[in-house]
Amino acid sequence: MKGSCQCGNVRYEIPDNYIALVACYCTECQKASSGIGTYSMLLPSDAFQLISGQLKSWERTSTVGTRNKTHFCPDCGNRIYNLNPDAPAIIKLKAGTLEQAARLVPDAHVWLKSAPAWIMIPEDALTYETQPSIEEGLQDLQQKRQAYACYQE
Ligand SMILES: [Zn+2]
Ligand SMILES: [Zn+2]
Repeated sequence: MKGSCQCGNVRYEIPDNYIALVACYCTECQKASSGIGTYSMLLPSDAFQLISGQLKSWERTSTVGTRNKTHFCPDCGNRIYNLNPDAPAIIKLKAGTLEQAARLVPDAHVWLKSAPAWIMIPEDALTYETQPSIEEGLQDLQQKRQAYACYQE
């Protein structure tokens, strides 16, 4: 899958398979996206391939106390991915920058606590009032995928 920033200076590519896609409605994501939240795609860091351009970064401490370093295009300001420098093996790609963004379906929805009241969440999605740790979230996702596999047999 290919993606780019708004001005097109930053271009990147990632493999088709990823760990999970999470829709986040926390107030920080709302501010960062100037909207209702973001799509974060969990990926191994080495799966992200920068094709052109350069990224600048800025770090803040998240609501749950973890470090969050965002990487963005210095020309147009578009955010491309976040990572926790204390756990750099996984990046959170801002999936809205992917060409296929509208075709992707989130596996989980987090921070429903601050989501707009009108938002419609599919019944089969994993939902959280706040956010689980990455480990907890992946465990829930694995259980859900197993449940589906049983159901389809
Ligand atoms: Zn740009
Ligand atoms: Zn968020």
